[in-house]
Amino acid sequence: MTKIILLGLVIWLAIYVLKRVVNQSSSQPSNTPKPDDSEAENMVQCATCKVHLPRSEAFLVNSNFYCCKAHIPNT
Ligand SMILES: [Zn+2]
Repeated sequence: MTKIILLGLVIWLAIYVLKRVVNQSSSQPSNTPKPDDSEAENMVQCATCKVHLPRSEAFLVNSNFYCCKAHIPNT
C-alpha cells in the first residue's frame, strides 16, 4: 500500500515539474510586442487614391507607395 502512495507521489512530482517547464517556456513569448502593433506600423498610403494597405502589398516607386501598378504615374 505504501508503494502505491509513493508511486502516486512520484507521478504527481513529475507532472508538477513538467507543468513548471511548460509554463516557463510559454511565458516568454508574452513579453514580445503584440503582432497587431507591428501590422499597424507597416500600413502605408497610396499616393494616388489615398487608400491604406500593408507595406508588403504596396509598390514603392520614387519613395512613394502605390496600391496597384495602375496608380503609379508614368514618367
Ligand atoms: Zn491607389
